[in-house]
This record gives sequence, structure tokens and C-alpha cells, in this order.
Amino acid sequence: MRAIRRFTVRPVLPEVLQPLLELATNLRWSWHPETQDLFAAMDPEQWEASGRDPVKLLGLVSAERLEELAGDKKFLRMLELDRADLEQYLTGERWFQKRAAAGDTLPRSVAYFSPEYGITSVLPQYSGGLGILAGDHLKTASDLGVPLVGVGLLYRHGYFRQALSREGWQQETYPVIDPDGLPMTPLREPDGSHAQVALEIPGDHPLLAQIWVAQVGRVPLLLLDSDVEANPEPLRDVTDRLYGGTAEHRLLQELLLGVGGIRALRSYSRITGAPEPEVFHTNEGHAGFLGLERIRELTVADGGPKLDFPTALEVTRAGTLFTTHTPVPAGIDRFPRDLIAQYFGAQGPVAGVPVEDILALGTEDYEGGDPAVFNMAVMGFRLAQRANGVSLLHGHVSRGMFNGLWPAFDEVEVPITSITNGVHAPTWVAREVFELADRSGADSGSIDPFAWEVIDKIPADELWATKRALRQRLVEDARARMRRSCRQRGAAASELGWIDNALDPDVLTIGFARRVPSYKRLTLMLRDPERLKRLLLDPERPVQLVIAGKAHPADDGGKALIQEIVKFADDPEVRHRIVFLPNYDIAMAQPLYPGCDVWLNNPLRPYEACGTSGMKAALNGALNLSILDGWWDEWYDGNNGWAIPSADGVADEHVRDDIEATALYDLIENEVAPRFYDRDRSGLPTRWIEMVRHTLKSLGPKVLSTRMVRDYVERLYTPAAAAARAINETYDGARELAEFKARIHKNWDLVRIDHIDTEGLSDSPEVGASLELKAFVSLGSLSPADVEVQVAHGRIKGEDQLATVAVADLTLAESYEDGRHRFEGTLVLDRPGPFGYTVRVLPKHEGLASPAELGLVALA
Ligand SMILES: *Cc1c(COP(=O)(O)O)cnc(C)c1O
Repeated sequence: MRAIRRFTVRPVLPEVLQPLLELATNLRWSWHPETQDLFAAMDPEQWEASGRDPVKLLGLVSAERLEELAGDKKFLRMLELDRADLEQYLTGERWFQKRAAAGDTLPRSVAYFSPEYGITSVLPQYSGGLGILAGDHLKTASDLGVPLVGVGLLYRHGYFRQALSREGWQQETYPVIDPDGLPMTPLREPDGSHAQVALEIPGDHPLLAQIWVAQVGRVPLLLLDSDVEANPEPLRDVTDRLYGGTAEHRLLQELLLGVGGIRALRSYSRITGAPEPEVFHTNEGHAGFLGLERIRELTVADGGPKLDFPTALEVTRAGTLFTTHTPVPAGIDRFPRDLIAQYFGAQGPVAGVPVEDILALGTEDYEGGDPAVFNMAVMGFRLAQRANGVSLLHGHVSRGMFNGLWPAFDEVEVPITSITNGVHAPTWVAREVFELADRSGADSGSIDPFAWEVIDKIPADELWATKRALRQRLVEDARARMRRSCRQRGAAASELGWIDNALDPDVLTIGFARRVPSYKRLTLMLRDPERLKRLLLDPERPVQLVIAGKAHPADDGGKALIQEIVKFADDPEVRHRIVFLPNYDIAMAQPLYPGCDVWLNNPLRPYEACGTSGMKAALNGALNLSILDGWWDEWYDGNNGWAIPSADGVADEHVRDDIEATALYDLIENEVAPRFYDRDRSGLPTRWIEMVRHTLKSLGPKVLSTRMVRDYVERLYTPAAAAARAINETYDGARELAEFKARIHKNWDLVRIDHIDTEGLSDSPEVGASLELKAFVSLGSLSPADVEVQVAHGRIKGEDQLATVAVADLTLAESYEDGRHRFEGTLVLDRPGPFGYTVRVLPKHEGLASPAELGLVALA
């Protein structure tokens, strides 16, 4: 029988055990092993049975055991230590507070919007990298004391659980989540009712959603949940699952996330007194409607300042940051324009904001654009004054991909910067690795940069023994998962004896786990199955592979790839050396990265925007073996792993796959395996261990999410907060900036460079020679103060293309009649070789974040 509803009855704890409730509901336990020890000590068996879920555990421990614990001095001492530690963590001064005390002007509060969050397997609200990154961002903001508030949706069925059919076909099941059994609490109005937001949508009934708060250390995460009784049936299902359903379903989810998210933040501040956010960080396009709600607040809302649209747009842009996460066109969120027009009419959630203005924000009005779609990424860029990609290479690729929004500018000047992703070490690094470092003098508990030099002091045999223990743990976890999976696929218990010897804790272990979109090429390793078999079964230097990954439920192509791998791994000849583990999630990932010697990644370059799994593996002493894409393109240094050469220029996909697969096999056979099995007299792979040390030292300081979040605070949040403040006080700044932009757009046609005089250039100039430039410029009715006149100069590529560009400002020398002016300056020839220059005019205003912001330039 299936229950029609489920709920969780919370236990009544003896008085002295009350602090357990706070420890269980603050998700900091998920990256604090000592708190996990405390829960495990309550009842080791039930701790495992609960899936290491403290809230669930408290419901499972018997009343007798609770009474016993209430009188257990040792347990109570442990409890007090953990409680005090959490209190100190939540209230103490951290990096951000120290920066503020040192006089830095920092944002009062930052709102972070994401469609998914991967914080712990206990809260299955993520599908892959985007969610894990969002989870790591919140945890790190908490560790650093950054005043951040997360906003997301609560999916009643989360993301699916993956199993396999007998034939190796992916099967999806959706768990039913009971919010009362999750580590969250309702946000309550002063009258005790559960706080809600309401969104007007076409039809008879507004979309309602209740607000939950999950506490991630110091950071609250607000989650919106449409499963409330006052909603009619179809609306209750808006937040049913992550990334499922029709375009309209997705649109409703995104309306709730963006528009509802802003309303939830307002309620949260009103109820708790938390400061209103100054910066709004849109993590990928899905949350972009938040900008429309802010425009509504500023233009038409009762009690608001009733600004005009252009002024409200400037206010909104100033405090908004947009992060783009994928260069894969199919990964960009687009809706039919008709659907947007239908939802944003007079009855829509931001009624009063003109629908034409909304549609214009998402229009692909550039070469190759589709006039019938509304593009969420394009809207993201237009609603944010600052934008970034997630690795150096991805920044470059994004500037190219979105160059159409700033067509007058070369790719290098497109205003999209990059901050390379990072990972949260306390979540992803095995405890044993921290202990190993601490024994050699590191203070891994400190949030400030880990003392990476100590890596050299770790004795080689200890390091190797730790890696073996971690490999052993992975092997055991993998065997348990294989047993469950084989049973589930219909094998009898008597057929499973082989699993006792599947995988080997002394064999070179290569991990490959990720979502299964086609660009990640799950099956590249199967290009030449016979060759792979030889590598796995090599009598001297065998290799074993642990593989995992979920295909999107609608992606039959991806499921076919999984089936190919499963079929290969089912073969009794190799099944002890290659396994596919179903249901890749955080719980699997945590023992997987530390247990691997090599982390493999072979995406189709440059589609991996960053990738983070290799970073997690590296921090656990695994070596990366990867295509030079995403973060690896940036930080591979020749000694911290291996680069699989990519055949970028080869147009035929199959030929390209063949070339890259061959390179992969060659590397494993000729470089990786020989080094792993090259042992000294005491059995240690000395050269391998050197590479592990070098990996930790060279990558450790870079791949940490503390580096990433500090970068966001310093390079993007702080300038955005400053811009928002400058503009927000009275809105005069925004009004003036909007008027400036309108005036520039209207008059730019008449801006031109009439002619340029040069003096001082001989026929064969030498380095150090200088050039006097006089630029005669017509500005029409614009004034010289409205523009910047620049000389752009640098190396020449090909006939006449400026390859590297430096710019210097020219200064106004004299004004004439009819809006004509002379600007002057000196250009020093600072490098030998082909050299060129040009002169250009750009709009100038202190409120602009980039000279390319308006997309306007007049070139000589
Ligand atoms: C880290 C992680 C990912 C993302 O890995 P990529 O390298 O970005 O593909 C996906 N799923 C889980 C469970 C992870 O831990």
C-alpha cells in the first residue's frame, strides 16, 4: 500500500539533548566531521540506516537510548564542545568582518539566486556541477563570513534516482520528499503563519509558494515551495521536480525563482530584520526574472519610487551580476516569445512593466539570432552591469559567443570577465588527507590559505599508505553498490560471488564520473574496445576504471551511451576491472575522488566551461588526465598531471574522437601506468608521489572555493555594491545615467573622426620613438566631456588587425564651431616589429562599468 501523504513527527528530546536540534538543522554538520562523529555516536547503526542524515537520525533513535545519552557524561561533553564550536562559528569574526574592520567598503548583503543547490545528499536539490558549485559557494561564503543569502526552489521530488534495467538502460525514480523531515524550517510571519509569496499569472488563481529556510552555516537559503493547499492542483506541481516538464512548466518555475525569489527576500528582511541585499548574483540565466521584479518595484509598485523604465533599469543593472555557465548552445535557456508575451501581459507577475520592454530584453537581435525566441542569457547580460564566465578559457569563449550583443567591439573588449570556479575543501577532501597534512604541521582547520609547503614534509610512505586506505574504501563502497545494482537488475545472490573480488585496492584506479551530455563523451574510452581491454587486463600494469553518471531523463542518446558502458562492463572477462556505479550523487562522490589515482576528463573542447570534479580529485592527491578544457587549460603546468591533446581543428567528429581516444590510450599505456608501477626497493612509486606532491602544491591554492569567493567579493560584488550605492541614494544618479545613455544613443550617428595628423614619425622608426597625434573629431551636439577619445595601439596580426591592444587617452586641445574638436596626445613606440594604431571615440560616464557598455564606438 502506498500512503497518500507522508509527514515527519519530530522527536521530543530530553532537555540536555536540545542542542542536538540546532546541530542537526544547521547544515554546517555536512562539512564538519566532528559534528558527524557526535551523531554517529548516538547510534552507529541508525546513523548508517538514516543515510547519515541527522534529522532522520533523531527520529530513529529510541527513547531509551535518548535517556541513556542524557546521562552519558562523555557524550554530553562532546555535545557541549560541538555546540560551542557552532556558536563560535556563527558569531565570530571571519575574513569578511576583518576586511570590513580594516575599513574596506563592502556590500551589506548579497543575494545569490540559483535553480539548484548541491549541499548534502540529504537535500537532493541538484543535478550536477551547477548545483554543486552553488552549494560550495554558500558554504564558502559562510566560512568567510560573507553576508550572503541564497534563493532557490524546493523540488518535492528533487532530481531523479538512477537505477539500471537488466539491459543496462537507465531507470528513473523520483523520491517523495517530506519537507518536515528535511533540515529546514518554515519562515514564519509574526502571527505564526507560514510566510508565502503570491505571483499573479494568467488564469483564475495566483501562484502561491511557501518559504522555507535551510541554514547553511551562517548563510540562510530561502527555498520556495508551491505545494501548498491553497494552490489548485496544477499549481501545486510547479516545483515538483528539477529540470522536468514542458517549456511552460519551466517558465513557471523560473518566474517563481526570479520574481518570487525577490519577494521572498523582502519578506525575510521584513520578518528577521536582515539587511536588504545590495548585490544580486544571477547564477545562470534561469533566475533572470529577478531583474524584472526589481524593475516593477521601482516603477509601478505601491509605495515605490515610481521611476521611469530607463532609470529603473539603471538602478537594477548597477547591483546585478550575471554568471554564464555554459558555452553549449543547448544549455542556454530560451522560451518562445509568444509564451513570454502571454505570461507578462496585464495579468502577469510584473504587471505594469511594459511587455514590449520585457520582450526587448531577451531578443536575439544580432546576426544569427532567432527572432521567435526569448533568450534568458541575453536578458541576463542586459539586466546586469557586470558579467562573468567561469574559467579563463570560458571567459574567452563567452566573449566570442555573445560578441553579437556588442558588435562594434573586438572580442577582447566584450564586457564579460571570468572568475574560475573552485571547490569547498572541507566538503570534498577526505578527513584522512587533512589529518595527514596536520600531522606534518598544517593547520587545515584555519580558513586562511592552507600551508601548502607542509606537503613536502609528509613522509612518502605515510602518503602512500593513506592513498591505499582511501582506494580500499572506494573499492568497498563500489562493491556494495555493485551488489545492490546487480540484485536490482535481476541477478540472484548466488551469481554475485565475483563482486567480492571486483576491483583491487592495489591497482591503478581511474575515475570518470559526471553528467552524460554528449559533449562530455562518456564513451570515448570505448573507441577501441580491444585496446581498452588490454589496458585493463595488462598482467604487469593493470588499470581499473570506476565510472558513474546520470543522463537527463529526456536524453535517450545519453542513456544509450550509459548502456554501451554497462554492456562493456558486464563482460565477465573485464568486469573485475571496470564498473559503472548507478546514481552518481554527493554521497558517492565523497569517497570516489579520494579513492582515485587518476581523474579522467575528456570533453569536446571548449564545451566544458570549467569542470570541478578534477579539482576535488586533485585536492585528494589524484592526478588529472584531461583534455585541455575549462580549468585544466588554465592550470595544467606540465607536471601536475597529463594533457590529452585535443584535435580542435578536425571537423569530422569521428576522426576527432579517434585521434583523441588514441592519444588517451597512448598516455595511459606509456606514461601513466609505467609511472604508477615504477616502484623503489621499499615498494613506493617515488616519481608518482612527487607528482602528487606537486599537484597538491601547484593546484591546492588555486582550486579552493575560498579563492573563488574572495575573487567574487573583491572583483565583482564590491564594485557592484559601490555602483548601486552611488546610484541608489536619491535615484538622481540613475536618472542622470539613463538620460546620458538616451542622449548618446540619439546623437551618436553624428560622431566621427574627421582626420588625424601625425608628426615625428620617421620612415624607419625605432623602439622608443614617439609620435605626436592630433585627432580632429566631430561630436554633433555631444560635448567633449561626454566622450573619451583614445588611441588604440599594438602589434599587428595579418594585414592590418590589431592583435594586442593597449589604449591611451587623448586630451582636448581646442574646440571649434559646429561641434568639432581637436584632441592630442603622444604615442611611444614601445615594441619592435609590426605595429599599428587607430583612433576611436567612446561614450564616457563615471556610471559605466566598461567602455563597451553601450556597444557604441566611432572608429577612424
Ligand atoms: C563535482 C560534482 C559534479 C560536477 O563535476 P564536473 O567536473 O563539473 O562535471 C557533478 N556531480 C557531483 C555529484 C559532483 O560532486
